[in-house]
Amino acid sequence: MTRVLLATKNLGKVAELQRILSEFVLEGASYEPGPETGASFAENALAKAREGVAASGLPSVADDSGLTVDALNGMPGILSARWAGRHGDDAANLSLVLGQLADVPSARRGAAFVCAAAYALPDGRSEVVHGELRGSLLYEPRGTNGFGYDPIFVPDGLSVTSAELSPEDKDAISHRGQAFRALAPLLTAALA
Ligand code: IMP
Repeated sequence: MTRVLLATKNLGKVAELQRILSEFVLEGASYEPGPETGASFAENALAKAREGVAASGLPSVADDSGLTVDALNGMPGILSARWAGRHGDDAANLSLVLGQLADVPSARRGAAFVCAAAYALPDGRSEVVHGELRGSLLYEPRGTNGFGYDPIFVPDGLSVTSAELSPEDKDAISHRGQAFRALAPLLTAALA
């Protein structure tokens, strides 16, 4: 099986993506990733994948993801991980969004999780694809699975939050699941 670097230090993502990219042996990044400076999910995902190639010499995959809120004109978007000012403070990020939306009625609480997934190869080739999961935001958090904004996000067609889904049920519909299921055959073909 082909070894592929997953250009992230997030062990949760390594476990999640190993389930989805089961035809590859994924390795986590052993270097410190640089800051995310791109203007879009796609730019950030490609930059992370290229950084992975530069650091390891291996074919590399990476993602960049976030929550886009209709009532916030698409924000936090690419700033989702640091919306409250500190990278990765999930509780503060979620509280800030809930506070911003306190007076927004149910009918205008639409949002989407978006993911760009990219591969980059040592010969310079690369590709990026997107996945999106539409839903709406609650007024109070519910559920303990998942991470980030999952406790306030109810996927369209469901009555539970994505923090109340099992990991497998979330993978089956999630933005990240969709994007990496689309990326896997492209990477297989590129490596053939
Ligand atoms: P990054 O892709 O590692 O830059 O993280 C993006 C941020 O978006 C995370 O820190 C979360 O706040 C949010 N996010 C991305 N995907 C999800 C998800 O599946 N559930 C909840 N929050 C998410």
